[in-house]
Amino acid sequence: LEQHVQRTEKMATLAKIAAGLAHELRNPLTTVKGFLQVMEQKFSAAGQAGDLQNTRIMLKEIGQVEALIDELMLLSQAHQVQPRPCSLQAVLEALEPELSAQAEAAGIQVRRRVEVLPPFLADPVLLTQAIRRLAENAIEAMEPGGVLTIAARRSGDWLEIDVSDTGPGIPYYLMDRIFDVFFTTKDRGTGLGLAICQRIALDHGGEIRVSSKGFGTTFRFLMPFRSLPGPSDCPHGPPVLL
Ligand code: ADP
Repeated sequence: LEQHVQRTEKMATLAKIAAGLAHELRNPLTTVKGFLQVMEQKFSAAGQAGDLQNTRIMLKEIGQVEALIDELMLLSQAHQVQPRPCSLQAVLEALEPELSAQAEAAGIQVRRRVEVLPPFLADPVLLTQAIRRLAENAIEAMEPGGVLTIAARRSGDWLEIDVSDTGPGIPYYLMDRIFDVFFTTKDRGTGLGLAICQRIALDHGGEIRVSSKGFGTTFRFLMPFRSLPGPSDCPHGPPVLL
């Protein structure tokens, strides 16, 4: 684990440099995008189909770069955890509409096995971002007919959130590299998703574990279950009426 954490730290430093660059790239990109949007309208009004198509391709490419910049910024900011009382139910419900739409479009069935748990302390925004990325990877890994399962439970002092798929699994020789910044096997991947998830887990005092044995993959987001202080933890709290 020690080695893994050091590795992740090194990657996070790299990502910070990249995020600095990304920040600098955002302004010129916004300018170019603005001009392209004006061109798009002109070509559209003038019925210049060829030019219109080329302009739309450029805008689409700019959209990709913007998405990459967003990911880099998130990776560098992920360490700014703002713990708040959080409900697992609410976190998963926030993901629901987007995830269902993506799963349906890909012909994937979604199953949930989520324990009803009391509120706990975590950063709900970052937690949602992490689970979203794991679930998106799972959907992308599967053919139509696949099943995405989201399961969550409390195990002793830990909260465990499992995101499982019935995809092809991850070859053992790639296991070491999938959390690396910019490692991707996808044509249009950024290779930042798992680095972001790992960062978020580490900053919550947890980690992400992966198990994949030839068929299907499970990513487990683990973090300490930090209960909210209740009357019993607080000697000067309200007396318990019996
Ligand atoms: P990206 O999704 O942009 O490729 P990630 O960091 O999220 O970046 O993932 C890195 C790589 O890990 C992916 O390109 C893929 O090879 C592998 N991977 C992640 N999740 C899964 C999964 N559920 N099943 C199989 N491979 C996966």
